Amino acid sequence: MRLVVQNDKSLGNGAVPVGHRRRTARRARVHGVMAVLVVAAIASGCARPGGPGTGAPPWAGGASGPTGMSGPGGGSEAAGAPPSRQPLEASSPAATANSQAKKFQSAHEARTARIAAARRWRLDSVPLTPPPPPAKKPEITTRDGFEVDGHEELGLPPVFTTVPTRDRVVFLTIDDGAEKDPTFLRMMDDLQVPYTAFLSNYLIKEDYGYFRRMQRSGVGLNNHTLHHPYLPALSYRRQQHEICGMQEVIEERYGKRPLLFRPPFGNYNRNSLRAAKSCGIEYVPLWNEEVFVDHWDYREWDRKIRPGDIVLSHFRGREDWKGTMPDMIRRFLNKVTADGYAVARLEDYL
Ligand SMILES: [Zn+2]
Repeated sequence: MRLVVQNDKSLGNGAVPVGHRRRTARRARVHGVMAVLVVAAIASGCARPGGPGTGAPPWAGGASGPTGMSGPGGGSEAAGAPPSRQPLEASSPAATANSQAKKFQSAHEARTARIAAARRWRLDSVPLTPPPPPAKKPEITTRDGFEVDGHEELGLPPVFTTVPTRDRVVFLTIDDGAEKDPTFLRMMDDLQVPYTAFLSNYLIKEDYGYFRRMQRSGVGLNNHTLHHPYLPALSYRRQQHEICGMQEVIEERYGKRPLLFRPPFGNYNRNSLRAAKSCGIEYVPLWNEEVFVDHWDYREWDRKIRPGDIVLSHFRGREDWKGTMPDMIRRFLNKVTADGYAVARLEDYL
């Protein structure tokens, strides 16, 4: 089994934390149980509704309808039908017919644009459309083995790697902020793929504007501490400085106080969660898979993506990777689309 461990060798403290090994053994036992439960869940009603990328040619917009990333209603095949499919003699009043035709026309255009974007960025197939955000948000709880002493009693924010949902969606999260590649921003705008950023101030302060552009595209900017330290080695006060200091920076620079916090390296203790809670953090999302330019890492023994999985990646470029951010996104999208998953916005499920 290969565990996903955030390995930021180039950032801050790259040592494998002592406390981690103990938790790893605990996780291994828990994962066996989790895997059985997940298999049961899939067998009992999470069957894949037709496989994208498996039958239809990449650009044909096969049975599963790769209609891209539009908002609510965007996944409807009817909405994606070309205007010529409209009956010529509409029985409804002319005005209604006209507005319907316009709607179909714009949906058709949007779909054409998505296909063109996928081709432009050399994806294997068009990313799948996520369902509308859930009307009733799932209840987020701490994953077994990831809790700290007094977690519930103290009302500490939940630590989780997967969002409980039957939707065939995954959530892309990108950490740190070292690489500031304008091509990446263009690619994500063009493809309309949502993601969530977790930022460390020491990496973003040289160019706050880059992340402001990201925010304007609808990306949530969240907390990954001021300096990316190994938190469990710090006192409560120091941790509070790292976490709450970053809350202030994000609020001051981007006008919004984050609700999400991700501890550097995925390592935390009770004080980390207490400190995070003290300055308004409500969720601590970790990850179940990590995607790089040239490979994937999985937390689960069977190396499979589950509905609601959170996927980690990093703002990294050629200095650290054998490729660029767009190369990483290409690898990410090609796999999730081929496996039948759409990319949804994490914040929409919280
Ligand atoms: Zn990090």
